Amino acid sequence: MKVGVAKETAPGERRVALVPEALGKLQAAGCEILVESGAGSGSAIPDSAYTEAGATIVSADALYQQSDVILKVAKPTTTEIGNFRQGQAVIGFLQPLIDPTSAQALARQGVTAISLDAIPRTLSRAQTMDALSSQANVGGYKAVLIAANAYGRYFPLLTTAAGTAKPANVLILGIGVAGLQAIGTAKRLGAVVKAYDVRPETREQAESLGAQFLKLKTTIDATGSGGYARELTAEEQASQQAELNEAIGNMDVVITTAQVPGRKPPVLVTADAVGRMKPGSVIVDMAASTLGGNCELSEVGETIQTPNGVTIIAPDNLPASMPAGASAFYARNISSLLLGMVKDGALHLDLEDEVTKATVISHDGSVVSEAVRKLLEPTPTHAAQPPTAPGGLA
Ligand code: NAD
Repeated sequence: MKVGVAKETAPGERRVALVPEALGKLQAAGCEILVESGAGSGSAIPDSAYTEAGATIVSADALYQQSDVILKVAKPTTTEIGNFRQGQAVIGFLQPLIDPTSAQALARQGVTAISLDAIPRTLSRAQTMDALSSQANVGGYKAVLIAANAYGRYFPLLTTAAGTAKPANVLILGIGVAGLQAIGTAKRLGAVVKAYDVRPETREQAESLGAQFLKLKTTIDATGSGGYARELTAEEQASQQAELNEAIGNMDVVITTAQVPGRKPPVLVTADAVGRMKPGSVIVDMAASTLGGNCELSEVGETIQTPNGVTIIAPDNLPASMPAGASAFYARNISSLLLGMVKDGALHLDLEDEVTKATVISHDGSVVSEAVRKLLEPTPTHAAQPPTAPGGLA
């Protein structure tokens, strides 16, 4: 079976789906690896490193003509979808819940679309395949570095002959995978870290990393299914917001990571809260996308300065800004998923298998994912409420 590694074409996407270190296990399972020339260049991996690991470097045309399975990070663009041929498979962050029409286009091309963002994350054997977690981890780390860089003062308490600098007060909103990594990173930089989430079990997790859990007077338990949060009711949101606004006003840095599967990210930092922050404060909104963000004033992909001197940064693809590290984790995730689907050197899809069933979106010319099929039915509800993928960081 020929496995192709495509060069990413999405603007700003510097990751690559497979790194040379990940080739060995796939080759041992009977896969021949083809790598599009320059595929690793954004991650500082030259073609020669793939060749030394036993891969063949090919042109984009040859990749699409010869590969049985094509590995990608971002979902294929319309042009890329046109390059696929019937019977091929593609694996990547296909985001079928955000973009069901691309999944439909792949199905019409006769392509088997396998989406890494649909991995059942609570299944223990799927943990090595959980690219949403690995990339959220990278994002949480990088968000803190970006915040520290934009903040004009120190994160740690610093005593020098020229005086003492107070430590920064950092608030992390949303204590999922990204939030926990952000807490750990901000603590390692010496900040005083507070954190908040609507799932009560996150309190212990935050405290174990040295953060103080921000306890609001209004107790909200918004534990949803599968470890995710549910959307708050209007009353819960109003009481949460009033208390959060007060806390945010005392912070130097706020990093937001909150997501609710199938919904727009909740607004946790209102324009009013931003207005209460001191000049020089920094907000990094990791949840920002074209659907909106956790900060009311975020503009995705932009850094803005508010009239009261607050910097609001809304990066649109944090993992791609640390491409070598992010690709190394991603490669482990995607090869682990693929290896579970290879039998006797060929792609073998057992649609009864829990992981295969969850991740195969299209097969044999049709969309097989129930959730995606529902989204393709034109109903006013879906048009009014665009969904996000679980984790939303793909
Ligand atoms: P996510 O990206 O969906 O959301 C990030 C955080 O935002 C969550 O902790 C959520 O509770 C929080 N949030 C949502 N609405 C909020 C609001 N109004 N105010 C404050 N916080 C709000 O989460 P994630 O990082 O993808 O993780 C989701 C869950 O999946 C976690 O419980 C995590 O432990 C679990 N998980 C489990 C495994 C596993 O079992 N192997 C792997 C990965 C993740």
